[in-house]
This record gives sequence, C-alpha cells and structure tokens, in this order.
Amino acid sequence: AKPITADNGRPGGLKDVRHIIAVSSCKGGVGKSTTAVNLAYTLAQMGAKVGIFDADVYGPSLPTMVSPELRILRMNPETRAITPTEYEGVQLVSFGFAGQGSAIMRGAMVSGLIQQMLTTSEWGELDYLVVDFPPGTGDIQLTLCQTVAFSAAVVVTTPQKLAFVDVAKGVRMFAKLAVPVVSVVENMSYFDGDDGKRYRPFGEGSGARVQEDFGIPNLVQFPIVPNLSAAGDNGLPLVVLEPAGAVAAAFMELGATV
Ligand code: ADP
Repeated sequence: AKPITADNGRPGGLKDVRHIIAVSSCKGGVGKSTTAVNLAYTLAQMGAKVGIFDADVYGPSLPTMVSPELRILRMNPETRAITPTEYEGVQLVSFGFAGQGSAIMRGAMVSGLIQQMLTTSEWGELDYLVVDFPPGTGDIQLTLCQTVAFSAAVVVTTPQKLAFVDVAKGVRMFAKLAVPVVSVVENMSYFDGDDGKRYRPFGEGSGARVQEDFGIPNLVQFPIVPNLSAAGDNGLPLVVLEPAGAVAAAFMELGATV
C-alpha cells in the first residue's frame, strides 16, 4: 500500500478518510461486491483502518456478505449523521442496513441519497474507504465521482468478450473524471482441476486486453472458488475465514496495488 497522507478538504464525515477506493464493474454478477468486501477485509488484515460504503442502492449485497450484530444504521440524535455499523473491525454503511430492502426510486433521488449517505456518515478516521459502486456508468456513478475525489479505482471483469466492451466504458469514465484505474481484476479466470491442469472455461485474455489498451498498471486474476461464493452467502468474507488461503493471497496482491 502507498504511504498514507491525510487528505483534507473532503466533505463532512469524510474529513478524516485518507484513501477512497472505487470498486466498479459495468455488468452485474461479475464479482464486484465480492471483490470490494474481500479487498476491504484484506486491507484491514494488513493493519489499516477500513470502511465499506455499499453504493449499490438497487441491489445492496453487503448485508448478505457480512454479519454485523447490529443490522441497522443508527442516527446520531445531535448531528443527525449516520453511525456506521461494524463487523470484524470494518465500518459498514449500506442502504440494505437502512431497513427498507432495495430501493424503488428514480435515478435523481438515488443519486441524492447516495451522496448524503456517503458524505454525512460518521466514518471517523479511516485509512481506506472502499466504495462498492452500482454496476454501470450512468448518473449515479458520475455523481459519486463528482462528490468525492477517489484515490484509485479497481475495475472488475470476467474473461468473456462481451465483458471487455463494457469494462472499456468504465475505464473511459474514470479516465474522464481523472480517477486513476490502478488495477483490473479478472474474476473467475480459471480453476485448477484434480488432474493438475488449469482450466479457463470462459476463455482467456480480456483482462490483459483491458490492461494493455488502457495502460493499467496491474492485472490480478482470481480463480473460480466455490468457497468464495459460499462464504459470501454466509456473511463471512473468505479472506476472514481462510486468511492463509490462496484467495487471501490473491487479495493481498490486489491490496498492494491500491
Ligand atoms: P456483482 O457485485 O458483480 O454483482 P457478486 O460479487 O455479487 O457480483 O458475485 C456474484 C455471485 O458470484 C455471488 O454469488 C458470488 O459469491 C459469486 N462469485 C463471485 N466471484 C466468484 C469466484 N471467483 N468464484 C466463485 N464464485 C464467485
């Protein structure tokens, strides 16, 4: 990880947050939330103070992927600011903890709500705030980027060709907004068979193409791991469950790039 420098000039509850990291994808279901959550817990295991903001208002997955005791966000009666909930030392804010399930709202309302939740939550002093973006490159994503200065973005893709076209859009969006994309995650890249062979069921090369075409410094490949899915569904991030495992090692590699 980079040396930490205090970044002043951020709004309200973010004033003592040093790095804000965007984890983004253009399609749903590629493993963006899995990446965001496990990256956050990896950074925490590396000794950083970390928070996660789940900005996916239409389909918040944080409540499924972690199991905080307190599953509702409290409001500070004096400041009227949101107090994040906490699990394994990581500060958490998600619309899914607001007690209303997923949102049925128009884009403009959602943008306003996300902006408010991000900037007025009492994050306290954090080294990293990991923001799980909603999939896509529309108004909500633009609003997020215009609300706070992101230190870095991680773009998540899968090896399929179609995913490449979409990811390119995401990378261009961050380039326009002057957010450096530090890493491409090619998720579900391969699995190792019992016969000792490495299989790539979704083909090869899309992560490398994105990396080359856009000059992105790092490409990190994640294997298909049944445990990753099971852990996510059970509210325990795999890097917390198996801190010495192969997946944790891949996340350490990613953690070193942000
Ligand atoms: P997104 O945030 O992009 O919609 P998720 O992180 O919710 O995607 O992942 C979608 C589903 O795929 C989840 O059930 C998750 O557990 C599973 N998944 C993600 N990455 C992997 C992986 N590398 N191996 C196995 N399952 C995975």
